Amino acid sequence: MAENIYTKRYSERAMDEVRPMIAKVGVVPSADGSAIFETGKTKAIAVVRGPRTLHPQHMQNAQTGILRVNYGMMPFSVEDRIRPGPNRRSEEISKVTEWALSSVVDLSGFPNTVVDVFIQIPQADAGTRVAGINAAAMALAHAGIPMKEMVSAIGVGKIDKSLVVDLDKYEDSLFHDGEGSTDIPVVVTSRTKEIALLQLDGKISIPEFKETIEMAKKSCEKILEVQMNALKEVGKNE
Ligand code: ADP
Repeated sequence: MAENIYTKRYSERAMDEVRPMIAKVGVVPSADGSAIFETGKTKAIAVVRGPRTLHPQHMQNAQTGILRVNYGMMPFSVEDRIRPGPNRRSEEISKVTEWALSSVVDLSGFPNTVVDVFIQIPQADAGTRVAGINAAAMALAHAGIPMKEMVSAIGVGKIDKSLVVDLDKYEDSLFHDGEGSTDIPVVVTSRTKEIALLQLDGKISIPEFKETIEMAKKSCEKILEVQMNALKEVGKNE
């Protein structure tokens, strides 16, 4: 078998090390809830509005409120300008984020309403969907939306033969001629430690997959601590 050529990360990070994180809650005073989550150069802002009566009326659910997520990257969030407005990728990320967050949000006390979550990425260096989910979970808690538990999210994966957490854009693009890098966004719930979302882009063996999930769960513990500390600091940003 060929030798592993990615035994040391170019950034000097340990294989299981998350990039430096920053989290703040209450960054948009006019919103019902808001938060910023950063990991390395990746930055996500989430703003929550609602619950409000959902229009058009035929979309209402008399049993529960619904969550609606809108994810978008800002035009200059990457080196090449991105065309503004929705595209297939942003629609997919909005949907999977909505699924992940809906598993912990309890809107049964708000029938016929919608809670809108807007996620914007002003600066992207990979892992934007997971950064967005971390920010959105904090913003929902800040808005006082009932939640069964929190969620934390991390990208884990494989670069050549090494298992790593929190790939940045450079790592995400490595070895596309060989085995390539594998990217697995994972969302973990805070109390029951259930997986609220898991996507897989690339190839990985079953034992390696199990190991990356364990790495994701450990990273999510650290992320949860950062999120909870930010929520405790709330009033200070308002
Ligand atoms: P994620 O941001 O969750 O890792 P992707 O795997 O789809 O999602 O994208 C990986 C990274 O590629 C992004 O974080 C961003 O840095 C970069 N990227 C995504 N879309 C574009 C684009 N249209 N132009 C340039 N870079 C992009």
